[in-house]
Amino acid sequence: MTQRIVIENCAIATVDADDTEYANGYVVIAGNRIESLGAGRAPGQLADVVRRIDATGHLVTPGLVNTHHHFYQWITRGLATDHNLFDWLVALYPTWARIDERMVHAAAQGSLAMMARGGVTTAMDHHYVFPRGAGDLSATIIGAARDMGVRFTLARGSMDRGESDGGLPPDFAVETLDDALAATEETVRRHHDASFDAMTQVAVAPCSPFSVSTELMSQGAQLARRLGVRLHTHGSETVEEEKFCHELFGMGPTDYFESTGWLGEDVWMAHCVHMNDSDIDAFARTRTGVAHCPSSNARLAAGIARVPDLLAAGVPVGLGVDGTASNESGELHTELRNALLINRLGAHREAALNARQALRLGTYGGAQVLGRAREIGSLEPGKLADLVLWRMDTLAHASIADPVTALVFGAAAPVTASFVNGRQIVADSHLTLADEDTIARATREQARRLAGLAAGA
Ligand SMILES: [Zn+2]
Repeated sequence: MTQRIVIENCAIATVDADDTEYANGYVVIAGNRIESLGAGRAPGQLADVVRRIDATGHLVTPGLVNTHHHFYQWITRGLATDHNLFDWLVALYPTWARIDERMVHAAAQGSLAMMARGGVTTAMDHHYVFPRGAGDLSATIIGAARDMGVRFTLARGSMDRGESDGGLPPDFAVETLDDALAATEETVRRHHDASFDAMTQVAVAPCSPFSVSTELMSQGAQLARRLGVRLHTHGSETVEEEKFCHELFGMGPTDYFESTGWLGEDVWMAHCVHMNDSDIDAFARTRTGVAHCPSSNARLAAGIARVPDLLAAGVPVGLGVDGTASNESGELHTELRNALLINRLGAHREAALNARQALRLGTYGGAQVLGRAREIGSLEPGKLADLVLWRMDTLAHASIADPVTALVFGAAAPVTASFVNGRQIVADSHLTLADEDTIARATREQARRLAGLAAGA
């Protein structure tokens, strides 16, 4: 028996290829899939309906997809608050190098809880700090996502270019080339699920040009293609990075990525702020994806990514929270608004992005860059049942007629219900599978432990 959940009397933004919307419609979930949706009431005589939700006053959208994050940073928020990227990294690396399994678990729970409460149904963690003897951090992070019911991609990161090799991180914070490749391969083999309704996937993700050797970039790309998984890294984030690439490699970041096998439809890259027209052409030609992180870019004074130009060229673009040491809010639904507002401060002004484009970045665009656009990212029959009921009839939004405008331009909307794979993970803005107060206490405790270790060092 396939159990059905019927959601009725709601506005729906499907974010399908035609941007189909219904002012008053229904969605039927059957098992872990969307079975049907449309205008008006749900079809009568559906069998095995276990629940009917009267969603009057709500907007239903695809679940939000986060495409760039570093969960462990949840316990180093609010530090180095007035720094640019390189100064911020140098200030924080010594603390980060002391993380252990308990800290990483609490930080992953905190990061996941904050996003899930705000409508994220698919998360990712780019984790690249693996201190020797710190335990099985990849399994710990994957377990935290599974326990909270969130669909998840672990980008198994790595760093092997320490200070003595001209890199930015201290030598004690990096792995060797061979260790990084072997551990990444093992993580893919143990945890990556290639199936349509996979809850866990793994990507190969050396950290950045300034913390990773050219060999690790090249061999990482080869490893990912041999294993059939995606590739992720940071790119073109700041002017300092651009200068670093010219000095060390004699070329800009995009040319460097091309020379190491890092452009392609199986690659997505965080930031991509400092891109010239030919860089954008290279991304468009190769279908390389971008994770746009507007709040982090503002926090670290990195600049404004050229999102309207990337979209016009046909580059897949999703949204990212980025690590919460550079975006203390840790929420993705507020990034819909920030993406729209920050891009309007750039060259395209009021034509930069509209509300529907912002919602698309946070849903379908995210699914594209994670390589999962067939399965998630829009509400269509046959796709996985990852969707959110946003409450739009309270003080914050009730006087705005258009619900998509209200969601993107208005205050952060409360989440009445969020479903992942047909399972409800949020009810009335609270997690159903975890206790937020317990998580809050654990994160505070582990943040203090880490601060203590760093101070004693
Ligand atoms: Zn990042």
